[in-house]
Amino acid sequence: MPELPQTETSRKKLISLVVPVFNESKNIAPLYETVCQLFTEKLGQFDFELLLVNDGSVDDSAKLISALCQKDSRVRGVILSRNFGKEIALSAGVDFATGDATVFMDADLQHPPELIPRMIEEWLAGAQIVATIRKSVQKHGIVRRASSRTYYWLINLISELELISQTTDFRLLDRQVVRELRKIHEKNRMFRALVDWMGFEKVWLEFEAPARVHGTSNYSYIKLFDLALTSMISYTQTPLRLVAVLGFLITTASFFSLVWMSLAFHLVSEQFYYTPLAKVVVFNSFLMGIMMACLGVVSLYIGKIYSEVIRRPLYIVQKAIGFQNATESNSPEGA
Ligand code: UDP
Ligand code: MG
Repeated sequence: MPELPQTETSRKKLISLVVPVFNESKNIAPLYETVCQLFTEKLGQFDFELLLVNDGSVDDSAKLISALCQKDSRVRGVILSRNFGKEIALSAGVDFATGDATVFMDADLQHPPELIPRMIEEWLAGAQIVATIRKSVQKHGIVRRASSRTYYWLINLISELELISQTTDFRLLDRQVVRELRKIHEKNRMFRALVDWMGFEKVWLEFEAPARVHGTSNYSYIKLFDLALTSMISYTQTPLRLVAVLGFLITTASFFSLVWMSLAFHLVSEQFYYTPLAKVVVFNSFLMGIMMACLGVVSLYIGKIYSEVIRRPLYIVQKAIGFQNATESNSPEGA
């Protein structure tokens, strides 16, 4: 671990650990112990706050979180009023984290805390985002892995976002990134896609994901499909454009077919004449093509409305040079 510069050793840097918790009563104690041990043995030069965001658990998680908060002032609990989903729980963590850097990790220890010292090292070396890639997923079956690959292939194909396959929410974000993230208010969000959209200096680390020790995954295929759909809709309008293009193609093709059908009578022998029914069918698809093209145009407007209503910032300033306190004054919180 590199030595901190003299001027900064006066105050220990604070690392926030944001952990979304949904029915994790069996994992809370092991998680707390692992974190304490890690900061005592390997990260003694840092302070930590363990921010447990209870996402409407129906087991004892909320009680255990309160008990831990009583016992250790470094533990903080945010109890959400119901289950809002992991993406929103992580976002609540973004709002409450006070650290110089914040690490987002799962409660089930599938995001190995042993990687945190390396993440911090990269952060101290200048990375503002330290993201991770899962090298092996022992518990996931072939169907889930195949769907995941297809999803990443598709989103990279049709959106301007570059999402890396097997990337996870296990990430360290610098205070500045967290502050910028607070300004993003869109409700339908995929945390890691949003972080990737933001840019900043990023470093990737790889890790092996162990199997879950207690409990089962809270992510059903339906939830995962929902998440995939959300990110598709949020970062690309290609499907909307496809509707318009398809409509235009059908209209054009049926138009020329109709013209040919009318001319065939004069140009080719009788055996190639078209029946009145065939003409009606093609005329019908011509009308459908027009309808689809119109729908495409409407969709394009809806796409524009969507991108306006989510009010994503136009740009994010990483650094402004030559201004006094520029980054602070140019980016008031909640602007
Ligand atoms: N989680 C959450 N809300 C939910 C589902 C999950 O806060 O609605 C938390 C869960 O407690 C865990 C993390 O998100 O800390 C990852 O969940 P899980 O292990 O079920 O997902 P997987 O590892 O299968 O992707
Ligand atoms: Mg898990």
